[in-house]
Amino acid sequence: MIDFNRPAFVGKELDYIKEAIDLGKLCGDGEFTKRCSRWMEEKFQANHVLLTTSCTHALEMAAHLCGIQPGDEVIMPSYTFVSTADAFVLWGAKVVFVDIHPETMNIDETKIEAAITEKTKAIVPVHYAGVSCAMNEIMAIAKKYNLKVVEDAAQGVNAYYNGKALGTIGDFGCYSFHETKNYSMGEGGALVFDQTECLEPAEILREKGTNRSKFFRGQIDKYSWVDYGSSYLPSDMNAAYLYAQLEAADAIDQKRHGIFDYYDKALKPLAEAGYIEQPFIPDYASCNAHMYYIKVKDLEERTALIKYMREKGVCCPFHYVPLHTSAAGLRFGRFHGEDVYTTRESERLMRLPMFYNLDWKDVEYVAQCILDYPGFN
Ligand SMILES: *Cc1c(COP(=O)(O)O)cnc(C)c1O
Repeated sequence: MIDFNRPAFVGKELDYIKEAIDLGKLCGDGEFTKRCSRWMEEKFQANHVLLTTSCTHALEMAAHLCGIQPGDEVIMPSYTFVSTADAFVLWGAKVVFVDIHPETMNIDETKIEAAITEKTKAIVPVHYAGVSCAMNEIMAIAKKYNLKVVEDAAQGVNAYYNGKALGTIGDFGCYSFHETKNYSMGEGGALVFDQTECLEPAEILREKGTNRSKFFRGQIDKYSWVDYGSSYLPSDMNAAYLYAQLEAADAIDQKRHGIFDYYDKALKPLAEAGYIEQPFIPDYASCNAHMYYIKVKDLEERTALIKYMREKGVCCPFHYVPLHTSAAGLRFGRFHGEDVYTTRESERLMRLPMFYNLDWKDVEYVAQCILDYPGFN
């Protein structure tokens, strides 16, 4: 069976984990956590990058740092992972879903303004498949209505909008290092922001509501409980695994782009014949080849194709079921405007195997299976 995903392994992970153990500090904010933060701050030109236990937790932190209170509204696409909504609902927010662009599966920025009410506090663009949303337009709306922007850049690490790293454009950016993402530490994430006045509240929130970070820097004699908080620090062992991956970012990037380009070229004839649609990357976006998907005619054809691929020994999953149709989505949110594309396009989408250690012969085999699908011949 060719898996859809396997966590990347580049080779240095075990050495670095051993180094972390030898350094004798396995809790949060150790040597490797610092190296990961510094690496990202430099590479992505971000003022502050705090490693977290997940992207979900980074989103939770961002929601709280935006001052989300019960009854506030937050605008986001319905075509996303549960965490995008969960993190805000946890602090009492209502979620307002708007439709997506069919060609990128990203939030349709032209639908945002009509969904704004006096309760709206934030917009949460999700960079699906590592392809940027239309950030200039989204930032302009946020400025006009004085709203916060939290980028769900879980899939957008090392992807760019007009040369600017995703996650560094809004007030907060949230990365994921879950094993299904480009760079991984098993479970993990990061909170990204520019404003230095957010650093202290972010550190307090991340350190159980204490000013322990200040204490470690020698700025105070004793640390104590000062505000809301939780524990959002990953172990330095996990950070050691991630650091090996970040150092190998170019190799990971190159392999993923290679797979993406191979699928794209091999399947072009099916797109030209009108059987499938391929991913579209707008001029302003430079993607990180997080995902390769195709879209077929409808749900029935997708179900048949997934079954056929499974019989050929290839795992090709579909993706999100729109959140506004879920039990919690109905309870905590509402869809503003008409669902023209969200449901229809989500039912047509199928993902192809894509991971760093995927063999080239498997990549060729996957593409060949799709080309041979009887429905396309
Ligand atoms: C993976 C993902 C998340 C959650 O990331 P975790 O690190 O697993 O919490 C959130 N949003 C999107 C769009 C994702 O793809």
